Parts: sequence; C-alpha cells; structure tokens
Amino acid sequence: MPDLALALIPGHGNRPGRYDPGAVGTHAGLRVEEAGRVRMLALYIAEAARAAGLPCTRHGEETQYRDRQAAALTAHAGTPTIVLLHLHFNAGLAGRGSDYGLVLHDPRSSSGAATARKLAASIPAAMAARGIPAFRSQRVTAAVRPTWDRAANLLEPAWAVPNAHAVLLEPAFLAHPAGVAAVADDAALAALAAGIVAAFAAPA
Ligand SMILES: [Zn+2]
Repeated sequence: MPDLALALIPGHGNRPGRYDPGAVGTHAGLRVEEAGRVRMLALYIAEAARAAGLPCTRHGEETQYRDRQAAALTAHAGTPTIVLLHLHFNAGLAGRGSDYGLVLHDPRSSSGAATARKLAASIPAAMAARGIPAFRSQRVTAAVRPTWDRAANLLEPAWAVPNAHAVLLEPAFLAHPAGVAAVADDAALAALAAGIVAAFAAPA
C-alpha cells in the first residue's frame, strides 16, 4: 500500500443541467477553454504519475464537486494520505500582473499548507528544465473566507476526512498573455504536470 495517493479534480465541465466551459481566453486567434485544458493537464499529470509509480486518479465527470470528491476518496480508500488536487485556470485580473500561479490550501490544515508550498516550489524548476518560460512566482495562500469563498467551497468538504487534504492549484491565468500561452500549449502543460508529480514523487 503506497503512503500517498493523488486524486485530481479538474474544475468545471459537467455541471448540473449544463456544460460549464469555465474561463475562456484567446491565444493565437483560437479559443482556449479552462474546462478542456484542466482535463488535458490532469491527463498529463496522470501519465507522469504512472511513470513515477505514484497512485493517481482523475475525477472530472460528476456534475457536483462533492460527488467528484466522494469518488476520489473511494478510489483511494485505505491510503494513509490522499491529496485532493483541484485544478483550475481561471481568468485572473487582466493588466494587474497576473503572471503568477496560485496555490490555495485549507487554512485549518498544516499538512495542506505544506503540500501547497511543495507544489509551488516544484513547478518553476520543472518548467525551466523543459524550456518553458517560468511565471513570475507561485503564490501560496490559505483559502480564507470571504476573500476566497469559491475556493473554500471546494476545499472545506475535505475537512471531514482526516487523512485527506485538499489543495486548489491555479498554475496560470487566462487573462495574462504568458498564462494563456502556457495553458494553450501541450508542452507547457506537460512541464506543469512534471512539476506537480515531482512535488509528491521525489525522494524524501
Ligand atoms: Zn475555474
């Protein structure tokens, strides 16, 4: 039994009664939809995890986020630590320097905070190693209300599960030119995925 499993919850997509594309941007004249790109990122993460021997599953199809979380916990029942990784590429704030990534964690979970810091530290090196221009920084913040209500809605349900901690990763924003370029680029998503998996699979 592995000590840690990674459960990916890409955002948006199937929602009650509709399909939600999430944020929408444009790159090189083409439409870039958050829902599709976070699912592509999840696929790359799953591939990198398999290569690293890290248990990893994807849960992006249920219409309710609570059902995605429930499926993730069922998939890894018995694993000592389950990381619920919510994936988003939101719009961000155009013209206000959103050339950074954001990692949000549960304000009550020290293990979630540690996971968030590990992710933030791991991603830039993996991007640089693959020749992908790094973002200015990765910002790590607790998802406190009311500032981070929408993230808190996703993270707080994990409070009830002692061996799970939830992190919301927004590696890039669609409103920023470098962000949407990375989101649109499969090689950049593969580099992001390598950084995410390295945060968990690297030797202690
Ligand atoms: Zn989103």
